[in-house]
Amino acid sequence: MKLVWSLFLGILLFSSCNSKIKSLYIGDLAETNENIRQFDLPKGYKSTCREPLNYAPDLNYPLEYYLQEVRINVHFMDAEKGKFNFDRSEGEFYFDQMMENAIMRLDVNEKMRIPEGNDTEVLPANYTYVLMDMDTEVGRSPYAFHKDDELYWFLSKGKNRNNSRKEVLTKYEQDKGKVLNVFIQPTHPDSVASKTYTTDITGIAMGTNVKIAGVYELGLPSWQHATNLNHEIAHILGLSHSWYRNDGCDDTPPNSNCWRSTKSGPCAGPTSNNMMDYNSSQMALTPCQIGKMHRNFHKQGSKQRKLLVPQWCEANNSKSIIIDRDRQWLGAKDLKNDVIIKKGSTLEIYCRVSMALDRRIIVEPGATLKLYNAQIHNDCGETWEGIDLQSSSKGSGKIEMYGDCKIENILK
Ligand SMILES: [Zn+2]
Repeated sequence: MKLVWSLFLGILLFSSCNSKIKSLYIGDLAETNENIRQFDLPKGYKSTCREPLNYAPDLNYPLEYYLQEVRINVHFMDAEKGKFNFDRSEGEFYFDQMMENAIMRLDVNEKMRIPEGNDTEVLPANYTYVLMDMDTEVGRSPYAFHKDDELYWFLSKGKNRNNSRKEVLTKYEQDKGKVLNVFIQPTHPDSVASKTYTTDITGIAMGTNVKIAGVYELGLPSWQHATNLNHEIAHILGLSHSWYRNDGCDDTPPNSNCWRSTKSGPCAGPTSNNMMDYNSSQMALTPCQIGKMHRNFHKQGSKQRKLLVPQWCEANNSKSIIIDRDRQWLGAKDLKNDVIIKKGSTLEIYCRVSMALDRRIIVEPGATLKLYNAQIHNDCGETWEGIDLQSSSKGSGKIEMYGDCKIENILK
């Protein structure tokens, strides 16, 4: 009996000893450990952090590429007397429907029609809009209704054009820089009445505001304004018109900017359906265009990042990001979860990674973390727990650092 008992105890001790994981929390690169090594950058190293495609959403990894939320509010402008725009009872409902349709279009995204025979990938835009309350004539609401004879109207053509004037924005915008303010302005009623003026669905993006016109006075269903809203907001998020050669994306071919295809002439054959060209569809965004917007979302201090709900500051400990195969993070990331690098896998980080409050990166025994000019920090003014470099009797996790790496904001 005694023998059996000591054998049992022995097995217990032996096995617990054998599988015991030791944790070393790395919060300082000066830490000396045979499993942490520093190197120069490899020859031919080039930063990957500005390449749009490195930010194109990969929905195989939903914890890394979560839906970004752009904060918006809405201002309806009208004359003091007369009715040239929706009032509150109509406008809230109309805009809600327009926005819902616009969000649906961002989600479904269409395949590019040009160039003919292209194999351009179709990805979801992976951002949405959320309405934010502001001070209005009826208290806190995402919708404000202003009556202002001087500033209510919009004209993008003719000698009285005022589309690029800022007065209306300066006077009425709220939560400047944190919320994208959408101004719905009627085309000037004199122009709408004029036989020589064509009233269009149109708009302009300025700073972190957009003005859109044609909404009330054309009398169309709300969904017909959805792509114009997406187009103008996409300008704010960093996209240029795509018919030009220099829009920064190879997957948006220069084109004749045709409204639709015709039998002959420059608009014969397939024409663009890109959201950033003027056409009857405006339903396609390319991986590069989507990547560009997400690159801006991940750029510290950018105006686009300031418009987002900072979801990366909401730590989530119910799930972890599991790295169970070799991965390269070539763009910046803003994470809410722990990262666990499993035995036999390598994670290479090339840019900035924000870790939410109290989160950590776990490098299991037999796993490797490689950093190339990387910065790992908390971008919320809080702290995270650091890198948990684990070892057991079977081996240790390893960290290799190349170039100038920074590990910051660790809980001391
Ligand atoms: Zn435009």
